[in-house]
Amino acid sequence: MQDTFGQFKAYLARVRDLQMASAVLVWDRETYLPPAGAAARARQLGSLSEMAHERFVDDQVGAWLAALQPYEDSLPFDSDDASLIRVARRDYDKARRVPSQLVGDLARAASLGQQTWVDARQAADFSRFQPSLETLVDLRLAWAECFDYEDSIYDPLLDAFEPGLTTAPVRRIFDAFRPPLVDLVAAIRERHDRVDASCLTGDFDEDAQWDLGLQALKLIGYDFNRGRQDRAAHPFTIHFSSDDVRITTRFDPHNIASALFSSIHEGGHALYELGVSPALDDTLLGDGASMVLHESQSRLFENVVGRSRPFWRHFYPALQARFPRFNGVDLETFYRAVNQVKPSFIRVEADEVTYGLHIILRFELEEALVTRQLAVADLPAAWNEKMQAYLGLTPPDDALGVLQDIHWSGGMIGYFPDYLLGSMLSVQLYARARADLPDLEAQLERGQLAPLRQWMADHVHQHGRKFTLDELADRVLGTPLSPDPYLAYLRERYGEIYGL
Ligand code: ZN
Repeated sequence: MQDTFGQFKAYLARVRDLQMASAVLVWDRETYLPPAGAAARARQLGSLSEMAHERFVDDQVGAWLAALQPYEDSLPFDSDDASLIRVARRDYDKARRVPSQLVGDLARAASLGQQTWVDARQAADFSRFQPSLETLVDLRLAWAECFDYEDSIYDPLLDAFEPGLTTAPVRRIFDAFRPPLVDLVAAIRERHDRVDASCLTGDFDEDAQWDLGLQALKLIGYDFNRGRQDRAAHPFTIHFSSDDVRITTRFDPHNIASALFSSIHEGGHALYELGVSPALDDTLLGDGASMVLHESQSRLFENVVGRSRPFWRHFYPALQARFPRFNGVDLETFYRAVNQVKPSFIRVEADEVTYGLHIILRFELEEALVTRQLAVADLPAAWNEKMQAYLGLTPPDDALGVLQDIHWSGGMIGYFPDYLLGSMLSVQLYARARADLPDLEAQLERGQLAPLRQWMADHVHQHGRKFTLDELADRVLGTPLSPDPYLAYLRERYGEIYGL
């Protein structure tokens, strides 16, 4: 049996090498690829994805999985080997349903789509991106049709990013969350003059912003020996092994908060990948388990920690040293400024309170798109209408509206809900960590983030893909993901700032 398992594991490691080689090409495309190289890069990515898929869905893998069933049954559920067989079976059963040709077509369309998106966004002109998005929606729907679903074709699309997630519970959670959130936004709007965020805007040297971001990343524990930061049109994290986890950021020369919090967000994603047990490296368990879990880590470091008083009690002098103009701004004013609640156009720069509305908007539009209730051509108008309804703003152009996010250009439809669900989970995990680490906030205030990072590594990161979200929530929290603690957290933090 050990022989069979060894062959199976070695075979999957070679498939993974192909996937990781694809990831390097994606990273290069997003950071350094000259525009004229886009067409060849799309072809290369299509070929590699197709090859990796063909190898993975080979009958031999099915034969190994069948032969290894008794071995799996003989092991504890959480053992590395049993988990690898179990998760490989889940991946295999899904992958077998999808023709390799479609996998290749999707990879090629996504690669070309991202280039078209960059151009369209620069020109703030959705019509340039529309044909690519139409192709991508068609291909993603063809992909979704490969699966059985009960309620909505959106279900398999959600499942691609969060295994097991379906539309109905997302809708239930968001429907319950939206009314009190809208009330909170309205109550804060009445008291908007309690926060003055003018210190965050002005002219901020990009090199100094870069250095400040690196300092924040080192503080949270990002290891530059096992990673690096580069510039990209849209910030993201990507890994090629557990010892090579890279992030990207972008700069707003007129807003100091933009790149900084984006770096901390991506740093949170990176800590997750860096924290996966080395024993799982080069297996298909060697990634974060799901995007809800991933976003729980990034949003935790960006917001729960990164916008907290203890964090800034430690880190504010570093910011003041790089930007002396803040010597005239007291810590409390700065703390309130980085927590200002104000409806705005761009999701990744949104405050924590209005952020949820940005996500609910995208969830509703995606669902309408994939159920063909909304045509791609009508997307910008629908976007602007919902922005007005939920946030009281109409984007002046498509770059500040429907073109702002990279996801759809890469065929990633069904990802957005995970940001809000992950934010909810981040608060549950933080509460649990705080119960285990009574000294946590004093540690943050001293700039000691290692205990919190280690807690997340022990409870979440190290397991890689061994457990689903529900399994992990059960093990770590003893309770499922819930919007209630998150709502209570928002009410407490922002109620205190706005005197509600
Ligand atoms: Zn993220």
